Amino acid sequence: MAVTCLDELLKLQELDLRLRDLELRLKTIPQEMKNMIAKRDAVNASTASAAAAVRRIELDIKASEAEISRLQNENAKLLQQSSQVKKQTEYQAMLQAIDNNKKKISDEEEKSILLYDDLEAAKKSYFVTKKNNEDEIKIIKSEFDEMIDYSKKVETEISRLKKERPELVKKVNPDILSTYTRLLNGKNGTPPVCAVEDGICSGCHLRVTPQTINDIVRERMAVCDNCQCFIYLPAE
Ligand SMILES: [Zn+2]
Repeated sequence: MAVTCLDELLKLQELDLRLRDLELRLKTIPQEMKNMIAKRDAVNASTASAAAAVRRIELDIKASEAEISRLQNENAKLLQQSSQVKKQTEYQAMLQAIDNNKKKISDEEEKSILLYDDLEAAKKSYFVTKKNNEDEIKIIKSEFDEMIDYSKKVETEISRLKKERPELVKKVNPDILSTYTRLLNGKNGTPPVCAVEDGICSGCHLRVTPQTINDIVRERMAVCDNCQCFIYLPAE
């Protein structure tokens, strides 16, 4: 085995592993941004819902006041009509209706007072929610902008590494490179070139045979009997 290229191979591996990390990182960014947008929408929805609560109470107050005014008009009419009726029973019925309306008016007024209390509370809650949510939106916005910057940096770094790569590839023996590439694209994600530490392959965590250790000492690099990755002894 041509062994002179261990240093170059390690440099290539460092670049490739960095590249792999960055590409993985880049893939997760769109989802993170989507999550930020969803978070922003939820915050905006909570402000809108607090505003809607205020509007609902305002509408209830309007309806209550309209009802009071309707009952008052009705009573004014009844009072006017009552002065013209001749029959005592009819007159009594009208007075009874007026009294009923007065009772209804009093109920509506009580309801209205409670609604004004509710309105006060809802407005307070709306302003607190609005303020908190505006702060939250600012944070989300700045995180979003940071993520865009970060994503650009990652892309720049990836293209820089891709440009550097061919120079490193040239320095590696083609046969070793072919095995290296196969190992790099392997499913388990283990680095193709692994250090042997205390007699253990750092790729598969199994003990390397003394024979293989001898090979490494002689050739600087060997192939792990267990996981087939390239193995080497790191400098002391
Ligand atoms: Zn191994």
